[in-house]
Order: sequence, then C-alpha cells, then structure tokens
Amino acid sequence: MTRGFYIGRFQPFHNGHRNVVETIAEEVDELVLGIGSAGDSHSRHDPFTAGERIMMITKSLVDSDLVTYAVPIEDLERNSVWVSHVQSMCPDFDVAYSNNPLVIRLFEEAGVEVRQSPMFNRDVLEGTEVRERMILGDDWESLVPEAVVEVVEECGGLDRIQQVSDSDSNGE
Ligand code: ATP
Ligand code: MG
Repeated sequence: MTRGFYIGRFQPFHNGHRNVVETIAEEVDELVLGIGSAGDSHSRHDPFTAGERIMMITKSLVDSDLVTYAVPIEDLERNSVWVSHVQSMCPDFDVAYSNNPLVIRLFEEAGVEVRQSPMFNRDVLEGTEVRERMILGDDWESLVPEAVVEVVEECGGLDRIQQVSDSDSNGE
C-alpha cells in the first residue's frame, strides 16, 4: 500500500491538476491532496474558500479508482517546520509529489521521498490563466473539470472574483 501527497492552492482545481492526479494514480493506491493557503479566500489571487476547493476536488475525482483525501493546510510563516505542520494535519504518506523547488527542498530535508510529475499544457493550464479568464469573461470552463464549473456556479464564484478584482469607487 502506497499513499502519496500532492499540494497546491487549487485556485481553482484545473485540468492540469487533474492530469497530475491521473499520473500519480498509476504509482500509488491512495493520495492526500493538500489544499495550500487554506485560510485565504475572496481575493483575486485566492478567490475560493477551502470548503469550495474541497468540493471541486472531491467532485472532480469522484469517478477515479484512487482513494483521495483533501486536507486544508493553512499557511505557516515558518518554512523550517512546514513539513511537520503538513504531516500533523494529514494521513501518513510515503512519497510527496511536487515540482516546486521550496517544497522539494523542505520534504527532502525532512527525509521524505519526493517525485516530480510532468507539466501538462502549462501555457494555458495554470491557475493564474483560469482566474484572468474568469475576470475578463473569457472561456475558462474548457480549462477545468465539469464539476468545477458547477461548484463555481453554486458559490457565485464568477461574480465574486470579478467584484473583488474591481477597483473601488475612488478609482484606486
Ligand atoms: P497559480 O497560477 O495560481 O499558482 P497553478 O496552476 O500553479 O496556479 P497551484 O495550485 O499552484 O496551481 O498548483 C499546484 C502544483 O500543481 C504546482 O506546483 C504545479 O507543479 C502543479 N501544476 C499546476 N499546473 C500544472 C500543469 N498544467 N501540469 C502539471 N502540473 C501542474
Ligand atoms: Mg502555482
């Protein structure tokens, strides 16, 4: 039995993330998805709450054979103990998947095996691109699983990101 760990902010969960999960699924039996910056929401950079991101992930992976656990991870402004913080919140895992240099370094220093996963169509499958399209009213739906479109509709996510990204009435 192997259990993996994969962390992201998932603002929102998009088709790149889903491809990563499908690739990891070939190597592990179970996967913990850490929802980073869990306390952040209602901003242009982090529009969705941890709860909304749990829904996006759970509903997007409902047809997968993989057992998955989505665990909110709040930011800790102390990198040296961040791995312990993650481990304290999650089911035990054997291997961490990341391409992020800081995350890789922190796990390796803590003695956790790290594997990197390939990038999928990164020029468009990027959270920043999805959020920009949401704000501009361009096609973002084709970049995310159908379940994510439904969650965004349910929580009024499009209105939210457009409103919080707008400059205020003083023109600031
Ligand atoms: P943002 O622009 O908001 O940072 P993001 O697409 O990088 O969005 P994250 O939540 O930061 O999303 O992603 C978590 C991890 O998922 C990243 O560190 C990255 O390694 C991986 N990832 C993101 N997009 C892709 C992709 N298209 N293909 C493969 N891996 C990806
Ligand atoms: Mg990123």
